[in-house]
Amino acid sequence: MAESIKIGIPRTLYFYTYFPLWTTFFEELGLKVVISSPTNKAIMDYGVKETVNDACIPIKVFHGHVMALKNKVDYIFIPRLISIDGKATLCPKFLGLPDMVKCSIDNLPELIVENLNFNRHWFDFSRFYYRLGRKFTSNVWRIWWAYFKGLYAWKRYKKQLLKGLYPTSAESQDREIAMIPRRNQGCKSLKLAVLAYPYVLYDGFMSVNLIKKLEDMNVIPCVADDISPGDLKLAKRRLPLDLFWYYSNQVIWACLHYLDKEKVDGIIHVTAFGCGPDAMVDKLVELEAKKAGMPFMTVTIDEHTGDTGLHTRLEAFTDMLKKKKGLV
Ligand code: SF4
Repeated sequence: MAESIKIGIPRTLYFYTYFPLWTTFFEELGLKVVISSPTNKAIMDYGVKETVNDACIPIKVFHGHVMALKNKVDYIFIPRLISIDGKATLCPKFLGLPDMVKCSIDNLPELIVENLNFNRHWFDFSRFYYRLGRKFTSNVWRIWWAYFKGLYAWKRYKKQLLKGLYPTSAESQDREIAMIPRRNQGCKSLKLAVLAYPYVLYDGFMSVNLIKKLEDMNVIPCVADDISPGDLKLAKRRLPLDLFWYYSNQVIWACLHYLDKEKVDGIIHVTAFGCGPDAMVDKLVELEAKKAGMPFMTVTIDEHTGDTGLHTRLEAFTDMLKKKKGLV
């Protein structure tokens, strides 16, 4: 029955954490998965228009992606991720996301909203997929098969991230997500920690191609996904307390890792305009960098961030560091 059903997944936010698992899972259930196009000006403009003013830029972009899928699919998948590691929660905007979308956009197809709260029970991750699968099939074995195939695809994706590859969207092919290796590895280049939420960093439009820009400047960008879970755990021990929010913790732990264990020449913290948690994370990163005498720069991304302005700031920062290191 499911063969002709189209389910849409917005290409933003938690997409960059889970997409191989989700696409494999739904496809194994026989659904046709439609991923929204890579973020572009129209999607950004839709989002800005449809979302409340004080939302952060990634949430606005999310609304734009929902608009882009609206007339193309039978369902849109907007899970309510409460906790995904059993410890921290996601920021309140993730928790209210399905309701925010329902209130802001009219005439939506049916939303597939399911709660994932890993805090409650160790099995909640698998139960989440079971509940999702039951919406489309009563065949329990098919659901478990789809789940395990999804897990396999997700594991492979995480290994690729650890090896330094990162997801990028081919503009011409809506569905295509390629894993491409970062350049300059192994060269005598500047090494910079680039700390950001994955949905900002891997979205070429939102981040104004920040990774590519740095690589063109002969920089090796080091990101949080390059760090093994074991090393992140070690870095986390240095803080007396965790923050409340999952992605913010990843950023601050990655910062501590690059300050203590894997030396870099500087830190760039990319924050999203309108992000509440980032107000705290940015200060923490700045203080830790200052304590370690590490050059630090904040880049704030919003809907007006221009290519030239960002390029000039990055160039000034990297030139200064290159001179300091004797690379120019
Ligand atoms: S963590 Fe910040 S950027 Fe991400 S959704 Fe929450 S407020 Fe927005």
